[in-house]
Amino acid sequence: MSGGTDGRPLILLVEDNQTIRQAFTVLLEDSGYRVLAAGSGKKALALSRNASPDLILMDLGLPDARGLDLVRSLKQKESTVGIPVVAITGRALETDEEACLEAGCAGYLTKPVNTRQLLALIPTYLEG
Ligand code: MN
Repeated sequence: MSGGTDGRPLILLVEDNQTIRQAFTVLLEDSGYRVLAAGSGKKALALSRNASPDLILMDLGLPDARGLDLVRSLKQKESTVGIPVVAITGRALETDEEACLEAGCAGYLTKPVNTRQLLALIPTYLEG
């Protein structure tokens, strides 16, 4: 597994809403994960390639990119193809689960995210 130097999995949190980003960062850190956060698609791609996270939580509604295009881009690169991506979207009607899975996502959650459900699911994605 990449990323970890101290055994704690590294999660890349991609979310442009600062309030949600900060709340989820605290939630994940309190749950024993290391967290890198990105508020844009550009930063998300850079961190994905440079930091080798163990899991990416990807808000699909970003100001500078289409979320699913980001996922496809990650899945086309050998260095990032193996990182599981969980899509998080508030637009369930526009971006359905099937489209997320076809783009290469490992999972799909709709906003508002049930944090208990999220924390229960994360280990299953980390196990691959
Ligand atoms: Mn968003």
